[in-house]
Amino acid sequence: MVLGHPWRSHGEKRTIVWSHEPSAEILQFLKDMQDAIRYALQVAYRNTIGNGGAVPSPIQLRREIRDWFYSRYNYARHHVNPVCRAAVAMLRSYKKNHDGELRIPEVKRLATRIDGELFKIIGDQLRVTLQPGNYAWLAINKRDKHYEAYSTGRPSELLLTDRNACLTFTVSEDEYKPLGRRLLASDLNFRSVDMTVATRTKARLTDVRSESLGMIVQIQNDFSRRRMMLQRHIKNPQKRQKKLSEMKGRQKNRIKDALHKLSTKMVRENPDTTFVFENLRGIRKAGDGKNRRFRFYLNRWPYRMFQSFVDYKSSDITKYVNPRGTSSECPVCGGKVEHPTWAVSRCRKCGVDYDRNRLASLAILCRGLCLCGQPFAVSADASWHHMRSEYLYTGGAPDNAARAGWTDAASASNGDVGYENTRS
Ligand SMILES: [Zn+2]
Repeated sequence: MVLGHPWRSHGEKRTIVWSHEPSAEILQFLKDMQDAIRYALQVAYRNTIGNGGAVPSPIQLRREIRDWFYSRYNYARHHVNPVCRAAVAMLRSYKKNHDGELRIPEVKRLATRIDGELFKIIGDQLRVTLQPGNYAWLAINKRDKHYEAYSTGRPSELLLTDRNACLTFTVSEDEYKPLGRRLLASDLNFRSVDMTVATRTKARLTDVRSESLGMIVQIQNDFSRRRMMLQRHIKNPQKRQKKLSEMKGRQKNRIKDALHKLSTKMVRENPDTTFVFENLRGIRKAGDGKNRRFRFYLNRWPYRMFQSFVDYKSSDITKYVNPRGTSSECPVCGGKVEHPTWAVSRCRKCGVDYDRNRLASLAILCRGLCLCGQPFAVSADASWHHMRSEYLYTGGAPDNAARAGWTDAASASNGDVGYENTRS
């Protein structure tokens, strides 16, 4: 099967297949999509050649062909997405199967995928949206012996050919995902992901490290600069608004891309690991000032997205802990810590300055271990004494400078958002 969505193809999908006789309308739709895939392949091929052999991403390809698609076809705009994914997947697999040689592969099959937003199960029928308000109907084979079990999941994709219909459900297997042998707790910050790793049984710290989020800060800064240029140079308010919202969409896509890469890397580098994150959902209910909460709501989406990517990609269960006070308590003595500057957590009782973000990851880890029935007393543990220096504040670049970029761009509001207020 060449049509696919790499990060989605986890073992959580269940598909039922049945044969069908397509109506004239659906047949025409399939032919149109076949033509569209052919066209998309040509564009993707040209791009690949022009770009030194790098096949474009579906998102890049969509940018190139969507105007063509919208002007040529009257179909719902969403249908352009599977076309792009199919073309990219075909080109990639051709390249892979021919030792990197590139040609435009033939599109022989009449087949197209339809994303979950564009079909709905109504009774015994599948309702497929061709144009907004115009539907094609297909009978579902509910006698399939798996239908009852699978259909408890979310219908996520439909593959239509001129002979078969394949309906895919995403079944949540969370309860079946095992606990990893290790626990990796992440504190997500503006410039970095800070991590503490421990073995789960016989809790012992094994690693502490930070991964840069520099590329995301850069994307944000980049776009905020471009936005300023736009605001200065386009006088017509409607046109400016249009350009701004287009830009916002592109920015979101680029961040999503970067988060995908990072989360894939993290999951690959840490097999047999349960990831522990702060539960950002709970933060909404926290009784902070309205304004502050509202701002945080706007700004947290990259974090939430990152968490859900890791959760989805990991084959072990992911745990979420209460975020309150993860950077206000000393994990060694339990005393309150101060923050003379943003990056420092100072415990007067212990008389040390810790790296705030790394220390927060340790606090998250402790809560994660607790959730797994392995309470962890930091001060009493030998591994802590071994690792302790990794948590000390070394006067590296504080987080402050990066904050404006991250917040501003994510929310398109004015910078100056007291992120630190939202988590202590
Ligand atoms: Zn202390």
